[in-house]
Amino acid sequence: MKFEITNENNNARNGKLSLEHGNVDTPSFMTIGTYGSVKTLDLNDITNTGSQIILCNAFHLLLRPGLEIIEKFDGLHNFMNWSKPILTDSGGYQVFSLAKINKLKNDGVEFISPVDGNKILITPEKSIETQIILGSDIMMCFDDCTPYPSNRDDTQSSMELSIRWAELSKKANRSAQPLFGIVQGGMFPDLREKSLSELTNIDFDGYAIGGLSVGEPKEVRNEIVSHIGPNLPIDKPRYLMGVGKPLDIIHAVRNGIDLFDCVIPTRNARNGQLFTHHGIIRIRNNQYIDDKKPIDSECRCYTCLNYSRAYIRHLDRCNDILAARLMTIHNVYFYQDFMNTIREYIKINKLDDYIELLENIYSYEGD
Ligand SMILES: [Zn+2]
Repeated sequence: MKFEITNENNNARNGKLSLEHGNVDTPSFMTIGTYGSVKTLDLNDITNTGSQIILCNAFHLLLRPGLEIIEKFDGLHNFMNWSKPILTDSGGYQVFSLAKINKLKNDGVEFISPVDGNKILITPEKSIETQIILGSDIMMCFDDCTPYPSNRDDTQSSMELSIRWAELSKKANRSAQPLFGIVQGGMFPDLREKSLSELTNIDFDGYAIGGLSVGEPKEVRNEIVSHIGPNLPIDKPRYLMGVGKPLDIIHAVRNGIDLFDCVIPTRNARNGQLFTHHGIIRIRNNQYIDDKKPIDSECRCYTCLNYSRAYIRHLDRCNDILAARLMTIHNVYFYQDFMNTIREYIKINKLDDYIELLENIYSYEGD
């Protein structure tokens, strides 16, 4: 892996991340493909949205289809026939999201598999071994995501457990695949600092901020990002996990973040919530029943070049899966185009102008 910074605009930066399966222009948004597919999109669709890297989930792929199958295909790229970069999330977040059915142990997490009811123990070693077999371009440490809200003592012990697991993850990586560390520490800035300093001592190929977008107010999230973002190692890629809406992303870019992922563009598309250059539209609203305009007349995606709001609304009303596909194509394309615009503004040293413009567009969304 190589990471080169090409332009800077205060703390924001443009970069080129060279990975085994191709280059990624940063700041970049990674499209979510949890199970090795971007829901409703085929390979041509994904490529045409401009996505340079997708995010898959090691935990889910371990459960289904299982590593034996993926090993037979020599890795996830071959299995899904995607030739561009893949980042795999470790499964640490599922410790958090499946909290009711797991048992935290010192050396890992015991799950009752939601697929077949079997007991499974995931350790840092198991998570790294899984990601090596998947053959991802970037692997993530196995970590413990602290729930929100949590008191200081619980947050601290969870953060310390993540550090221990980060050491074990690093030790377990006998491959050439890059591995990123994940800064935890909940909503306590000093615990975040401690986590960062321990992780930089271990030395990773990149650094992520984890444990945000877990229900905390936007102001608290932004405070943590402004505090930690600019302090992450300057010469390594920086990744904010699970964020977010356009204003959250641009705020983080301004604080030096390079990589993002979030279910919002894909999940919201399937619910008829669409991003445009003039704010969010909800296609299920009656006002679009006979609207001949495309979703966004400034968008060049396949959906906007070919279909009207009225037709897409009709498909959605009839529960036609084509609606989900066309709306996903639009939202993913919109996000990629948005990142491209951010990179252009950084290049001309005018990111703050773009932030002002966006704040006006999204101010009434409660975003
Ligand atoms: Zn479009």
